[in-house]
Amino acid sequence: MPEECSKYLQSLNDRQRDAACSDISTPLMVIAGPGSGKTSTMVGRVLVLLSEGLQPSNILAMTFTTAATAEMRERIGKSAGKKAAKEITISTFHSFSLQLCRMHADKLQRTSEFSVYGHGQQRRAIIEAVRLYEEGKNGSSTSGACESAEGLSGAGAGAVCPEYAKDRSKKWQKYVTQAKASGRTPEECRKMGNEIGAKILGNYSDILKACNALDYHDLISCSVTLLSDFPEVFKECQDTWKAIIVDEFQDTSTMQYKLLRMLGSHNHITIVGDDDQSIFGFNGADSSGFDSFRRDFPNYKEVRLIKNYRSSRHIVEAASSIIKNNTKRCQSKSISSENSQGSKITVKECHNEEAQCAFVIDKIIEITNDGSTPCCSHGDIAILYRRQVSGKVFQNAFRQRKIPFNVHGVAFYRKKVVRIILAMLRTTLPECDDLSYRRVFKALLPFEKEEKKRVIDHIDKISTSRKCSFISAATDIFSAKISGTFKRNQLTQGRKVLQTLDMVAKLVDREQSLSAVVTCVANMIPQKYLLEQRAVVDNDGGKLLNEDNDLRSVLQYLMDDVAEFLSTHCTTTEEEVDAVKEKKGCNQLNSFINYISERETENFRLRRHDNQNSVTLTTIHQSKGLEWDVVFIIKANDNEIPLLHESNGTASEGGTSLEEERRLLYVAMTRARKKLFFLYVTVDSNWQVLQPSRFLKEIPSHLLQGDLSINDCRQVHQNLSNKTEQSVSNFGTELKHEDDKPTENNMMNIPVDDATEESLEAACALNGNNFLKRFDVEVRSV
Ligand code: ATP
Ligand code: MG
Repeated sequence: MPEECSKYLQSLNDRQRDAACSDISTPLMVIAGPGSGKTSTMVGRVLVLLSEGLQPSNILAMTFTTAATAEMRERIGKSAGKKAAKEITISTFHSFSLQLCRMHADKLQRTSEFSVYGHGQQRRAIIEAVRLYEEGKNGSSTSGACESAEGLSGAGAGAVCPEYAKDRSKKWQKYVTQAKASGRTPEECRKMGNEIGAKILGNYSDILKACNALDYHDLISCSVTLLSDFPEVFKECQDTWKAIIVDEFQDTSTMQYKLLRMLGSHNHITIVGDDDQSIFGFNGADSSGFDSFRRDFPNYKEVRLIKNYRSSRHIVEAASSIIKNNTKRCQSKSISSENSQGSKITVKECHNEEAQCAFVIDKIIEITNDGSTPCCSHGDIAILYRRQVSGKVFQNAFRQRKIPFNVHGVAFYRKKVVRIILAMLRTTLPECDDLSYRRVFKALLPFEKEEKKRVIDHIDKISTSRKCSFISAATDIFSAKISGTFKRNQLTQGRKVLQTLDMVAKLVDREQSLSAVVTCVANMIPQKYLLEQRAVVDNDGGKLLNEDNDLRSVLQYLMDDVAEFLSTHCTTTEEEVDAVKEKKGCNQLNSFINYISERETENFRLRRHDNQNSVTLTTIHQSKGLEWDVVFIIKANDNEIPLLHESNGTASEGGTSLEEERRLLYVAMTRARKKLFFLYVTVDSNWQVLQPSRFLKEIPSHLLQGDLSINDCRQVHQNLSNKTEQSVSNFGTELKHEDDKPTENNMMNIPVDDATEESLEAACALNGNNFLKRFDVEVRSV
C-alpha cells in the first residue's frame, strides 16, 4: 500500500478504517451523524480501492454539490496524487447524467446539442402544457406540441398565453417536478386518479421533445432509461464504473436511487449518509433510499460512526436535543463529541434585521481581532439563513465596513447579468432558442420598460403571424424588409442590437479564447441595464452609487468558470486548447454554455479560494457537508425556520414537513466547530411582530447564553406586540415609544422600482462609461 494511503488510514478511527478497508465485493453502507467523518471515510475508501489496483478511471464518486466534488478531488489528490484525482470521475448526479444523455442523445430522440431547461424555461413549457390541456378540454385545440415548441420561444408564452395557465403553472410545476423525481409516467398518474396531471405531464414531455430539450429531472430519468432499455449502454457503464461511491446519500431521489442501483448492480457500491440531514424533500429527495439499499443489496455491510470530530460538546448536545424531537427518524443514532465543551450557544434577540446585522458585524470584528482567544480569520466564519433574501442586508453592510465576504448559491447563475451574457453567447450557436434572442433585445434596447415591451411584443406578433423565429422577424423588421409601426429611433436601436449580435458571432468565429469572448460580450451590455439589474439584485435603493463589487465578481466568477471548464472538460495545455478550438469551433462554446447551465441547479457553488479569507454568506441548504469555526444562524424566527404555510400556520413550503424544517436547523447547527450564534428579530420591516423559532425552545437552557431565555422572550413578544400595534395605529402622527420610531435604515429599504430613471442616469454618469474599467478585470489567456 502506498505510504500516503496508509498514512491517511492511520488518521482514521477503527470504525472508519474498517469501512474504508472493506472487501470490494461487499456493498457498503456508512450511516452516521454530522461531523463523524463520513466524507473522510469515503475518501479513505477511494484510496484503498486505488491501492488495491483499481484504475482511477474505473471509479465514480457521486456527491450533491460542486463544492463537495472539488473538496473530494483535492483530498484524494493529496494522498493519491493529482493525476489519479483527475482521472477519477467525481461528479454530481446531474453532470454525470448530462454526459451520459449527450453521449446517447439519439436514443432519447434528441440531438446531442439538446438544451437543458432550468426552472424558468420549465415554467414556460408548463404554461404551454396547461394551455394545450385547456384547449383540448374545450375542443378548441388548434395547436399541438410542435406548434407549442415554436410558440414557446417564438411568439412567447408570456405574450399569448392566457392568464389562467400562468396562474396555475406554479402548482403544476410542483406536480411535474414531484412526478418526475419519483419516475411517474403520465399513465401512472392516470392510474393514481389524476387525469389532468397525466395530460399536463404528457403535454409537457411532448413539448420538451419538440424543443430538443430535457429538464433536470429528465437527465436522471433518461439515464435510467438508457441503462434499462439499451443493453449496450448498460454494459458500457458496467465495464467503466467498477466502483461507485455516493456521499450525502440521504438526499437522493427515487430516480437517482434507481440510477445508482443499476450502475452498482454488478459492481461495487458504497453509500454514505445521514437520514437526519435529509433536507431536499421538496425536490423529491427521499431518505427511504436506505431501506431500498438494504433490500436491493442484501449482503451489504453497515458501519456506524459515533464520534463527532467537528463540533464542541455544547453544540453536539444542543443539536441532538433538537433532532430527537423528530418522530420519523429511520435510524436512531447516538453521537458524542470528545472535543472540548466549548462556549455556550449564544441566543440574541434583535429588534430588526439591521440590529441583527450590527450585532453580527460587532462580533465578527471582535472575533477576528481578539488576540486572547485562538485567532479566527474571516474564512472561518459563516452566516447561514433560510432564504437568500435574508443575506442581502449583510452584503451591503459588509461592503461598507470592508469585511470580505462571499455569497454562494444558485443565485449567481440566476442573476440577470449572468443570464444575459449566456444568452448573448447562445445566439452564436446554430440552434439558439428565441428565448435567448428575446433576452438580448430586452437588455440591449435602450428604452424605457414600456417602450421596450411594446417593441418586443411587436416582434413577437410578427413572428407568430409569419410563423418564423423571433430573430427572423426582428431582422426583417429592423432591416426594413417589412413595413412596421416603429419609429425611426426604434428602428435604429433595433438595428444596433442586430449589429451587436453580429459582432458577437464574429468574435466567436475569429476563434478568440473563451475568456476574451466572455469579457467582450460582457462589455457590450449597456451600463444602464447593468445598473438596473444591480438594483434588482441588491435591493438597496439609494446606495447604488458606490458599489460595483457585485458586477465585478460576476465577471470574475465567469472567468473562473472558463478556467475550470477548460481544465476539467478540455485539455490542459494551451496548444491543446487551441487544437480543440480549431477542431470544434463553436462546439466548445456550446459545451461551456451547457456546463454553466448545468450548474444552475447544483446546490452549492463554493470555490476553495473564496473560503480562505472571506466570511461566507449562504443558505442552510447550500451549507451541507461544510464546516466553519463560527456560525451565525440568522433570522431564527418562526416562519423562517420553520417556514410556515400561510393559511394554516403549519410547515411548510413545497410540501416539506415540520420534521424536514427541524432537520434543516440541525444541519445548520452542526456546521459549527467552536461557536454558534442564534439570532432572531422581533419585528419585520412592516412592523409585524415576529416570534423566535419554536425549535429554539427545544434546546435545554443550560446550553444557552444570551439576553433572555426563549420562554421569557415569548412574554416580551406579547408585550411588544401590544405596544407595536398601538404605535403602528398611530404611525405618522404620534409615535408613542422612542424605540418604535422607524430607523433611517428602515426608511432606506425602499422598493427598487421606486428608484427613478434620473437616479439611475446619475449613477451611470458618476460611475463612468467603461464597463471593463469598472470590472477592473484582466483578460486572462486560458
Ligand atoms: P457531514 O455529515 O456534515 O457531511 P461528515 O460525517 O462527512 O460530516 P467529515 O466532513 O468527514 O464529516 O469530517 C468532519 C471533521 O472531522 C473534518 O474536519 C474531519 O477532518 C474531521 N475528522 C474526521 N474523522 C476524523 C478522525 N478520525 N480524527 C480526527 N478528525 C477527524
Ligand atoms: Mg460529509
